Amino acid sequence: MEGRPLPEIADPMAEEFFAGCARGELLVQRCSDCGHRQHYPRWCCTQCAGPVVFEAASGRGTVHTYTVIRQNHAQPFKSELPYVVAVVELDEGPRMMANVTDVDPETVTIGMPVEVHFASTAEGDVTLPFFRPVGS
Ligand SMILES: [Zn+2]
Repeated sequence: MEGRPLPEIADPMAEEFFAGCARGELLVQRCSDCGHRQHYPRWCCTQCAGPVVFEAASGRGTVHTYTVIRQNHAQPFKSELPYVVAVVELDEGPRMMANVTDVDPETVTIGMPVEVHFASTAEGDVTLPFFRPVGS
């Protein structure tokens, strides 16, 4: 986590999402009109333009697709090689991109059940979501 480029939390939607991460909650948005769930956070529903509210997701999902990064000359990623970048389909429906950690990259498969965990900077100013295999 140390040395990573961190997201710029530039709007209230991102602020609420990352505040959830700091509390250990993975937030997704649900449309108050049609029930559609979405990630990343936006001002309105992408299906009907209705109002959206944040709700805590279960934090569980499956690997929709992934890649194993084997070359990256930039620190701190160079020290983490090889590592997995995945698109995780949450049980609630939305997909999000994240690292899958605590796993041998060679054993990751499409459809693998994963669960969220969080890590923060030493200063505790930013907390990011990561995924790992369920039960690892
Ligand atoms: Zn909607």
